[in-house]
Amino acid sequence: MKKIIKNGIIVTMNAAGDVWDHGYVMFEDTKILAAGPEEDLEKKLQEFTAQGILKPGETFEEIDAKRAIVIPGLVNTHCHLGMIPFRGLGDDCKDRLRVFLLPMENQAMDAEMASLSTRYAIGELLLSGVTTVLDMYYFEEAVAKVMDEMGIRGIAGETVMEKDSCDSKNADEAIERGIALIEAYKDHPRVSGAITPHGTTTCRPETLKRAYEEDVKAGTVFTLHVAEMDYEMTQLREQYGMTPIEFMEHIGVLGPNTLTAHSIRTTEHDVEILAKHGASVAHCIASNTKAAKGVAPVSLMHKHGISVGFGTDGPASGNTLDLFIQMRMCENFHKNELRDRSAFPAKEVVSMATIEGARALGLGDITGSIEPEKQADLVLVETDSPNMFPVYDPYSALVYSAIASNVRDVYVAGECLVKEKKLVREDFAKIRNDLREKMEQTAFKDMKNLV
Ligand SMILES: [Zn+2]
Repeated sequence: MKKIIKNGIIVTMNAAGDVWDHGYVMFEDTKILAAGPEEDLEKKLQEFTAQGILKPGETFEEIDAKRAIVIPGLVNTHCHLGMIPFRGLGDDCKDRLRVFLLPMENQAMDAEMASLSTRYAIGELLLSGVTTVLDMYYFEEAVAKVMDEMGIRGIAGETVMEKDSCDSKNADEAIERGIALIEAYKDHPRVSGAITPHGTTTCRPETLKRAYEEDVKAGTVFTLHVAEMDYEMTQLREQYGMTPIEFMEHIGVLGPNTLTAHSIRTTEHDVEILAKHGASVAHCIASNTKAAKGVAPVSLMHKHGISVGFGTDGPASGNTLDLFIQMRMCENFHKNELRDRSAFPAKEVVSMATIEGARALGLGDITGSIEPEKQADLVLVETDSPNMFPVYDPYSALVYSAIASNVRDVYVAGECLVKEKKLVREDFAKIRNDLREKMEQTAFKDMKNLV
């Protein structure tokens, strides 16, 4: 049955930048059929009837948006879904990685933990309006399975490192897992696999090259942590006399499929190189500023036409997985740094959270804007809450006023997955209890969880 959302403020993020204060979105099965101002709806229905798209007397399921702002589903381009149990552990500790993360990962992470954590994380994503996510972690077969079961659009990236990890003995084994994953999901309508090396110095150049070639062959995204860490900058300078981006160009792993995560320490020359190869960037501002690592030069990247999407990074690094926090931090930080109140107009930041993020993942023709033929990935952000009145400019309201809990209803591929702020397919309390029980059987039980 065809569905139609009415009585909403429609923010399309299409190339024309259409916004309709009183608009509609019509969709059927997984796809958007039409969107426009409500005053044009009658004409559109007659046109569809003449074309045979609508049968005479055909009825719709009508959805009253109740003056919500209707946006394309948000896109999180860099996440580690398996790391929910680590959230809040050693947040202010100088060497958190070695004191908390690595020992706990070695002791407690297995396929079951990754799966339960992923289920929780996807619940959190959907409830905050994220309809597409790129994950890079371990046990990605389990991650992909949960993505499929929960209805989100996702790319499951198998992490590759030279040293042994919690799911693979070495890089070759991880790449083989990645290849099998890509093959297993190659015909899936929403979920796909990818091989995602950990970083520029934790993999040998041959490993990076092999992963890149496999990803390009499969038409999927090649992503890794780039220009993020002190040791990374020093090691590549000493060994090759290059920045991480120069090094990636040197070994031939930059192209339109490449998505460099973080990319904090990038020079103007680096940005030119990224633009030349059509690569994209995952901007993880909440994670980067919390870790005092610096912030990527996004205005420079935009000046060179690079697609920059948002990434929350894992819950251990950025804590929450929603993009409203990323949008606000991006605005405040970059305006402040540029000493320019007019820098980064809100529309540009909403674009990063939607269409630019979709392009960065190679999904720009599928999601990221409200347009006919695209997937019906739609989010209704209510305007009833105290923080959401008045709304003069929906972009402003989304970036400066809205918080994740304003997300009321979420559709992915036309299916309603969040209704009135609750998951439709799943019981979140059960997801949380299952994860808690599993954590209590591991070293996490000694970490003094208070809730
Ligand atoms: Zn990361």
